[in-house]
Amino acid sequence: MIKVLKFGGTSVGSAGNMKKVAEIIRHEGATITVLSAMSGTTDALVRIVSLAAQGNTKEAENILNSLHEKYATCIAELLTDKRAEAETLLEQMERRIRQEIVLFKEYISERLIISQGELLTSALFTLYLQECNDRTQLLHAPDFMRKDAEGKVDTVLLQQALKDKIQKTGTFYVTQGFICTDHEGNRDNLGRGGSDYSAALIGAAIGADEVQIWTDIDGMHNNDPRFVENTYPIHRMSFDEAAELAYFGAKILHPATIQPCKDQGIAVLLKNTMDPQAEGTRISDAEDDSHDFHAVAAKDGITVIRIYSTRMLMAYGFLRKVFEVFEQHRTPIDMITTSEVAVSLTIDSDCHLDEIVAELKSLGKIEIERDNTIVCLVGCLDHNRQGLAASIMEGVCGVPLKMISYGASHRSIAMLVETRYKRAILQNLNDTLFSNHSETQTDNYA
Ligand code: ASP
Ligand code: MG
Repeated sequence: MIKVLKFGGTSVGSAGNMKKVAEIIRHEGATITVLSAMSGTTDALVRIVSLAAQGNTKEAENILNSLHEKYATCIAELLTDKRAEAETLLEQMERRIRQEIVLFKEYISERLIISQGELLTSALFTLYLQECNDRTQLLHAPDFMRKDAEGKVDTVLLQQALKDKIQKTGTFYVTQGFICTDHEGNRDNLGRGGSDYSAALIGAAIGADEVQIWTDIDGMHNNDPRFVENTYPIHRMSFDEAAELAYFGAKILHPATIQPCKDQGIAVLLKNTMDPQAEGTRISDAEDDSHDFHAVAAKDGITVIRIYSTRMLMAYGFLRKVFEVFEQHRTPIDMITTSEVAVSLTIDSDCHLDEIVAELKSLGKIEIERDNTIVCLVGCLDHNRQGLAASIMEGVCGVPLKMISYGASHRSIAMLVETRYKRAILQNLNDTLFSNHSETQTDNYA
């Protein structure tokens, strides 16, 4: 069985945890292991970049020193024979970052600096495996993970390159998540949290049977454990449900991860490094219709744009004009509701809001509302079932709703609320729709 295992920042966040990861990959027989940077590293590097951009090298140096401490401790606890080699790597990384701070060239330095965490973490882990006499080879992700001019990963190149590199069985291949090369050959990345996506792309490229995403929680929960009490892990989930939940706020998985695996029918497993025995969540094309409601997720930072126009009345082509404005500004729309005289849309990126509004004004009167949250409920929402919508509304329990999107698929309903009502609606839905769930294991990570 070909398996790609990806471990997040906490899973490789200390020498002790790295040792656990080594046991897991041996037990699972991982083909390729994809690693994030040790927890907190990327945030620290992002901060160094912003300080360097402001010319505040002193503060940047302080952060670099605390990173040094973190990695030096890890090296001391993890390695013996290979310790000196690891220390040299750490020094090299620091030297590279310092060089970039001095030279500071906006785009290039930013991406070079940010990539150092994954590079160093994967190198240390490889040294550890080698020290334990596991046959291990470190692969340099920017050599095979490359974006095209559109910013999409070149999957043909990825497939070819990995075919050449992955030849030996009985070898653990270790590589970096998150980092890649842009179409001009400069260092780049797949966006924050992107190492899940790296693992999915690698899994698809090598025709894996399974992509396992290891974090510090025992799978995708039915609701957000940071805000709600009595959530529980869901053991089985369809690709579409997982994609909706990841997109609408379930932090455990980067939203882009599902597509490459769904396309190739590769199961995605969400597992807990701190409790490898726990079942976790298996995401596949099997749909679970044994109960109505499976999970809820919430996504903040949503802006509503409402367009009032009597020109919509009995007209056609109006929505096309609206959509063209968003397309031109490369801004995706999440929710949409329409009436004969108004259309409401939501977006999660304000980057081009001013330009969008300026153009939409030619179509009608515009209203903007910020600080909203989309609450997405997934499950087996068969439209023929009487009383389903009524029970959802009962679950909402009087929390004011701004928009509802229902009927697009049999699998989800999205509701928009002001962010101040988020906790209330999530808890209400949990108490009413999920309270007597059979696979309930009460877990509370709040
Ligand atoms: N280290 C990167 C981040 O913190 C990528 C990842 O962990 O997925 O965003
Ligand atoms: Mg992550």
